Amino acid sequence: MKSYVKGSFILTLFLAACAGNPYKATNKIYRKQAERFIKPLTKVPEKARYGDMQPAFEVGTVNFNLRKPNCVIIHHTAQNSDKQTLKTFTVSRSQVSAHYLIAKNGTVYHLLNDYLRAWHAGVARWGNDFDINSSSLGIELDNNGTEPFSEAQIKSLLMLLADLKKKYNIPTGNFIGHSDIAPKRKVDPSNLFPWKRLADKGFGYWFDPYAQAVTGGFSAATALRAIGYDTRDSVAAIRAFKLHFVQSNTDPYLTETDKSILDNIAKKYINQ
Ligand SMILES: [Zn+2]
Repeated sequence: MKSYVKGSFILTLFLAACAGNPYKATNKIYRKQAERFIKPLTKVPEKARYGDMQPAFEVGTVNFNLRKPNCVIIHHTAQNSDKQTLKTFTVSRSQVSAHYLIAKNGTVYHLLNDYLRAWHAGVARWGNDFDINSSSLGIELDNNGTEPFSEAQIKSLLMLLADLKKKYNIPTGNFIGHSDIAPKRKVDPSNLFPWKRLADKGFGYWFDPYAQAVTGGFSAATALRAIGYDTRDSVAAIRAFKLHFVQSNTDPYLTETDKSILDNIAKKYINQ
């Protein structure tokens, strides 16, 4: 009798939880899509034929694990609410997604397994990596692009980043923004994003207050490239650099102070 009551109580809780989830239908689609990737992964690779020879037998190595993310890309949603973004990420026509969405009240939605590829970077480049979606985790912050980021949201973000950095051993310099990897197309997160606060915790770099003036041999393009920026459009690269590291203005030219900041940051990337 006792265990029956307990069992039915748990069942009621379970049903209530299910009935309350407006994403039941799309969660089913998620599971189905994820299953499509599982089957081929469990097969020993077929005997390949390149050139004249084919091996006599199939052979799979026994030493492997999953590829893992190596950088974190931070975005602001430029939408009006977390509900709107959840909707965007669960309709196929949008063709966009991210691994995490953080609401203004600090709630963290985990939308995609970290080992799967989300569609958040678009055409982008960081150093010589041209397929950022494959190498990164995407984190969206519910923010319309002109408002400050809430304290609860940043607190949750810092906790999430600590978890991800430890889990996947992500290098300090690889916590960056969408505008850093797509300087011509993107301006998120906005200049209100607290990059210094992140860097203080080991997520990304920040310049030293005593950053020294640059000397004659300094090249802005070389320094920007050393950090990871795509400098094929130098104006866009400078603007993206300033959006992240200067913030007070993003005018596409470098003052002497901007240059010393750039030099200081570039050295951190070179020596990381
Ligand atoms: Zn973005």
